[in-house]
Amino acid sequence: MNREARPVDDSPVTHPTHKTGWIEVICGPMFSGKTEELIRRLRRAQIARLRVAIFKPKIDNRFSEDRVVSHSDVSLPSVAVSSSAEILERASVAHVLGIDEAQFFDADLVNVCKELANRGVRVIVAGLDQDYRTVPFEPIPHLLAEAEYITKTLAICVRCGAPANRTYRLSEESERVVVGASDRYEARCRSCYIKPKE
Ligand code: ADP
Ligand code: ZN
Repeated sequence: MNREARPVDDSPVTHPTHKTGWIEVICGPMFSGKTEELIRRLRRAQIARLRVAIFKPKIDNRFSEDRVVSHSDVSLPSVAVSSSAEILERASVAHVLGIDEAQFFDADLVNVCKELANRGVRVIVAGLDQDYRTVPFEPIPHLLAEAEYITKTLAICVRCGAPANRTYRLSEESERVVVGASDRYEARCRSCYIKPKE
């Protein structure tokens, strides 16, 4: 081929002067290690001496008002906020920003994460991808479409020991959001999961 004839852009690659941010999503059922994985990534960022900020919705006061706490009891200090807009207000000078229990935030969380990533922040979001009826749990599906990196975590099915991607509610309550842990929920695989009655 005549190389001369090709419309080649041979200008040298210039490394960007802006700081590139991005969005990482960690999603799966309850007990699948989303919070542990979020904490692991944030701790490594702290070791790298990056400024880290961690947020969670006010609704999730399962264990602690001011920490994100996993079911295995690892934890990090966090700020409880009542809206996604408050995350933007309080993001300050964070290089890395973690958000836990993201399914409890309003739809605007997607724009907040985009805005932060555009500013150069590494945004790590953890949350349930499905509710207890297996219905996609917004705003996580939207965030998956927007994210650069996606990690799906699996729990262990308490019935058969297979990898579990579903959250089964033990109690009879039918509201979408009923906060609880192993007192109310079980991780179950596709075959052991039973859909609740309408
Ligand atoms: P998530 O944020 O996804 O709800 P966590 O990070 O809070 O999960 O907790 C994960 C931990 O939960 C595991 O390391 C394990 O100690 C515990 N755990 C309890 N039940 C299960 C289960 N059925 N499958 C896997 N881990 C479980
Ligand atoms: Zn099973």
